[in-house]
Amino acid sequence: MNVALVTVGDEILAGDTVNTNASWIGQRLADRGVSVERVTVVPDRTADIARVVNEYAADYDAVVVTGGLGPTHDDVTMAGVAAAVGRSLERNETALEWLSGDGGYSSEEHAVGTAEIPENARPLRNTVGVAPGCVVGSIYVLPGVPSEMKAMFETVESEFTGESRHVGTVIVDEPESALVTRLAELQEEFGVKVGSYPGKYVRVKVEHADADVVEEALEWLRERAETVQR
Ligand code: ATP
Ligand code: MG
Repeated sequence: MNVALVTVGDEILAGDTVNTNASWIGQRLADRGVSVERVTVVPDRTADIARVVNEYAADYDAVVVTGGLGPTHDDVTMAGVAAAVGRSLERNETALEWLSGDGGYSSEEHAVGTAEIPENARPLRNTVGVAPGCVVGSIYVLPGVPSEMKAMFETVESEFTGESRHVGTVIVDEPESALVTRLAELQEEFGVKVGSYPGKYVRVKVEHADADVVEEALEWLRERAETVQR
């Protein structure tokens, strides 16, 4: 399964907030063997959200949108997603019950606005905060607040399925440029996906569906490179 992530928020584009939601979801999906193929940040603008979500819903198996729920003037994600799928926003009775039942918002008006999700969408309860999320077709809409987003994501996580895969890493104390030939050989010899991430050392990441192949590939590299024990 391949997935696109859409993060909504002017504050992320401005650099005020670091997009930890995308990295957290990306990691959780990768752990499930789901391939994340796009991460796009869009402003709090209905048309921009609609355009990107519409495109990604056509191109990927699922789209995960975070941020911009809630009752404030800059929370337009639900309107953007509704426009993306050509549906109207509708007050969802289940969501409204969650909101008024818990007394989440003091103003009735806010509760009503927040309980509006695209027509016939499946509402997702916010167990940590207030604003509900939803699922529309293959589009998952989650809150921006990380603790709320994580709790809600976990309620739908099992809907994201992928091929099981195994990952291993070797830390190498050599310049990355010196490794080029060996990394190409490693990939060719074992049919593994190889990632090379330079920092103080070079972290070489090996992926394959078969755990034994990963172990053999790592061993092959350990025998041929200056590795750092950790
Ligand atoms: P609320 O209902 O509280 O308004 P929301 O779903 O509308 O929540 P946002 O208004 O988009 O969420 O963001 C609320 C806060 O959550 C931000 O101020 C920021 O601190 C955090 N946040 C939002 N998006 C992200 C993100 N992608 N990564 C990390 N933190 C985020
Ligand atoms: Mg908000």
